Amino acid sequence: MTDLHRLSIRELSEGLASAKFSSRELTEHYLKRIEKIDAQVKSYVTVTAEQALAQADAADAALKAGNATPLTGVPIAHKDIFCTQGIKTTAGSKILDNFISPYDATVVAKGKAAGLVTLGKVNMDEFAMGSTSENSYYGATANPWNLSHVPGGSSGGSAAAVAADLAPFATGTDTGGSIRQPASFCGLTGLKPTYGRVSRFGMIAYASSLDQGGPMARSAEDCAYLMNVMAGHDAKDSTSVEKDVDNYVANLNGTSVKGLRIGIPKQYFNVAGLDADVKARVEESLKKLEEMGATLVEIDLTMTDAYVPTYYLIAPAEASSNLQRFDGVRYGYRCENPVDLMDLYKRSRSEGFGAEVQRRILIGTYALSAGYYDAYYVKAQKVRRLIQQDFLKAFESVDVIAAPAAPTTAYKIGANLSPVEMYLGDIYTIAVNLAGLPAINAPVGFDKDNLPVGLQLIGNYWSESQLLSVVHQYQQATDWHTKRAAIAEENV
Ligand code: GLN
Repeated sequence: MTDLHRLSIRELSEGLASAKFSSRELTEHYLKRIEKIDAQVKSYVTVTAEQALAQADAADAALKAGNATPLTGVPIAHKDIFCTQGIKTTAGSKILDNFISPYDATVVAKGKAAGLVTLGKVNMDEFAMGSTSENSYYGATANPWNLSHVPGGSSGGSAAAVAADLAPFATGTDTGGSIRQPASFCGLTGLKPTYGRVSRFGMIAYASSLDQGGPMARSAEDCAYLMNVMAGHDAKDSTSVEKDVDNYVANLNGTSVKGLRIGIPKQYFNVAGLDADVKARVEESLKKLEEMGATLVEIDLTMTDAYVPTYYLIAPAEASSNLQRFDGVRYGYRCENPVDLMDLYKRSRSEGFGAEVQRRILIGTYALSAGYYDAYYVKAQKVRRLIQQDFLKAFESVDVIAAPAAPTTAYKIGANLSPVEMYLGDIYTIAVNLAGLPAINAPVGFDKDNLPVGLQLIGNYWSESQLLSVVHQYQQATDWHTKRAAIAEENV
């Protein structure tokens, strides 16, 4: 079969179970596509062909023996932030260029246990700091919809790989939008789960109180399959929550759009810099949901102006602390010929970290320093609570909240926005992380340059099933999620 990359996860699962094709065939098909197409997209940092084929053969044996899970033999790409035993894990950084983890992240281990086949590790902004994937030591990844544009970030490699049909789905992480924004830029569905739903063990930390892993795929249905594997308590991560996991696939039709109250924050649609096409497509998608029976309710999110400054104090503060461990001593990059220990620390870090990471370490260290701690960090924590309360108040009168995922479509590669301009682009996604809420992006059309636009739906705590279900039904009634970039159509 030459079009295995066109199949949804459910179709792959059914095809493997009924032996229409084998996992080896499917894996070889994807590896061949990566070999032929990824030179243009540059989504993979590491391709693990040999291991993938061995995993595929093991999956085929399990399928034959009748002890397969629904995902046995299905290929996946992992964001290069998830530790993979025996395979390089770089987090997009020079400082981890030679790092091979001695253990698997829980998300990776769960994937293996479910029989997933790892195609490789995909590109990202260094330590997940960024919105374009250009902050990677491994170079920029291209947006499959237009190769001179970025795929978004930080999970840009995950998004580009799926949008170019170089993986059927991928893992991502979201600290301030890094699943939703690249999903939006690449025309995909991506879910940022409630904080604590997915284990962070073995997921290289950026800002620990905000980081959360989640699925990126072509549809809500595909995401639901991956959520069934990723979600759940983990004794190795004390912030993962002991709470029953839903069967996200079984629940895909569990929430009716009829009667669903969708909150429209009036502050969100008057943001300076909101692109007219993005606004129009999002409004059209809301109209469609209204036709399907939802009610649109105007709401007030009064803290909107505080999102960017609050996030850009808390995230760098946590990052400056988390990144102290990269010192060139036990693993990772070490500078040449250090004269003493201080020189080793200083030069290993100056040479090993890129500019944006160094900027965040500086901001974070400043915000946490004795003289400024109360004025910046503590204040930001207080504002963070107000932002959370703003959402909780809104959820007293609505079921979900709608927003664009980003104010614009994908930037041009090399657009070279100033740091502050870049940070302002995170306005619609970061508050969700500050509050720990779940949110999903769904593709809802294109701008005048044929670049994808995304609708974001924010849910109350633990409402992943509801979000997936609402998007699933929208996707049953529309076909935006079936559109493919020209490069993905290429048969190899
Ligand atoms: N763009 C945001 C940042 O640079 C979010 C990144 C993320 O979610 N990892 O921090």
